Amino acid sequence: MTTAAAPGSGLLERIVTPTGGQPIHDPATGEFIGHAPTASAADLDTAVAAAQAAQKSWAATPDAERSALLHKAADAVEAHAEELAQLLSREQGKPLNGPNARFEVGACAAWLRANADFPIEPEVVIDDGETYAEVRYQPLGVVGAIGPWNWPMMISVWQLAPSLRMGNTVVIKPSEYTPLSVLALVEVLNSALPADVLIPVCGGGELGDQLTRHPDIAKIMFTGSTSTGKAIIKAASDTMKRMTMELGGNDAGIVLDDVDPAAIAEGLFWGAFINTGQTCAALKRLYVPRSIYREVCDALVGVAEAMPMGVGLEEDNVLGPLQNAAQRDIVARLVDSARNAGATILTGGEHDAEAPGYFYPITLVADIDPDNPLVTEEQFGPALPIIAYDDLEQAIEWANSLDAGLGSSVWSADRARALDVAARLEAGTTWINKHGAVDPRMPFGGAKESGFGLEFGVAGLKEVAQPHVVTY
Ligand code: NAD
Repeated sequence: MTTAAAPGSGLLERIVTPTGGQPIHDPATGEFIGHAPTASAADLDTAVAAAQAAQKSWAATPDAERSALLHKAADAVEAHAEELAQLLSREQGKPLNGPNARFEVGACAAWLRANADFPIEPEVVIDDGETYAEVRYQPLGVVGAIGPWNWPMMISVWQLAPSLRMGNTVVIKPSEYTPLSVLALVEVLNSALPADVLIPVCGGGELGDQLTRHPDIAKIMFTGSTSTGKAIIKAASDTMKRMTMELGGNDAGIVLDDVDPAAIAEGLFWGAFINTGQTCAALKRLYVPRSIYREVCDALVGVAEAMPMGVGLEEDNVLGPLQNAAQRDIVARLVDSARNAGATILTGGEHDAEAPGYFYPITLVADIDPDNPLVTEEQFGPALPIIAYDDLEQAIEWANSLDAGLGSSVWSADRARALDVAARLEAGTTWINKHGAVDPRMPFGGAKESGFGLEFGVAGLKEVAQPHVVTY
């Protein structure tokens, strides 16, 4: 076992408060990391006023210059990549390796660069000799970004990169569980950006609510749970804010009867357990035809039992703890509900609540009813229910039966069959023979109670802009 050596350029020392503030601990070890600052309502007003003052000159900056500054910000992320990854690993819990902390920091740079380069031109909608009309995209003003704790750096970039590119300034409120990761990222980004175009404020739900209601915030970009999203929609209505809502998911995967179970097992595993299952668009319920049910279950157990879980800074690990005790308890409760209903725990299913760290093992649950709470509620952790089906129509109906509709996947050796099933799934994205792979060029968003609005690509830029029709 090797442990990463801290690079230590002093980033952490620059963002923590020397005394007081919110204590932050490593979820894998309980080790104290530092105190995060906490913002009062007055601090929030100061931040919004500064962002508003900076917005006019930022909007007046030529687009090519804003793009160049986003590339410079990506350079700064790459220059500090290891230090950012280590802090992210210590605060969030995710290991350095696998699709985890180093991967997340790499994604921050990639999304910054992609957002810097998307073309955004006025769109001519009529030019028939009599009438000319074009749609231009103008900045909105100050964007309020509110984020979750599972991918704190990457999701912050998803919110701030398009906002900045379009000439908005941003006040960002990270999750109270992972403020240091976002503060460190912002510190690095701000080494490249002009003053006050990106301002962090740290606090919990109350501060998020104040940001949502603030009259000088033009738009809320929110990523988090569906219940908080509903509260924000209500709170934002008085000031008629624009909103992008990226909310909870309970993604279904449907395996068709023509697959080779061994060939898809690793894809299924990472679809479900990327970031130890703490991912919005992870595979959270898997429907498998009874004819190959045991083979798929066995293949998944084989992959799961070979994947090392442990402290994030140890280089061998690819799975980590839950980020917090509350989420670990949700996973344990849902697995218990399945066990008590007679489901079979194929692997995992037990944890030591007294041991250090919020670890819960990878848990695969078979012979489970389609309406068990482990299937119908979002577990957001390392437990996957595998439901047997006899009739594909029934599986499609089960997949569409919930209020959530973020992602979904179909697994088949026959692309045409897979496409037919995909067309019938109610979700923002359907992947074929993979699950959860996002790409900055591909719009991403939820159906039903998984939210509204799109992120990524030119569609994502338009979400943080006011369309303005000019016609003669
Ligand atoms: P959460 O809703 O508890 O918290 C998210 C953020 O909202 C935090 O910053 C929190 O402080 C803030 N908040 C809480 N109450 C608020 C209020 N009344 N007004 C304004 N802000 C408030 O979510 P979480 O537990 O941090 O994240 C997990 C959830 O996020 C899961 O449901 C997951 O599926 C979802 N998620 C969705 C996406 C997506 O892109 N659709 C991505 C990641 C996570």
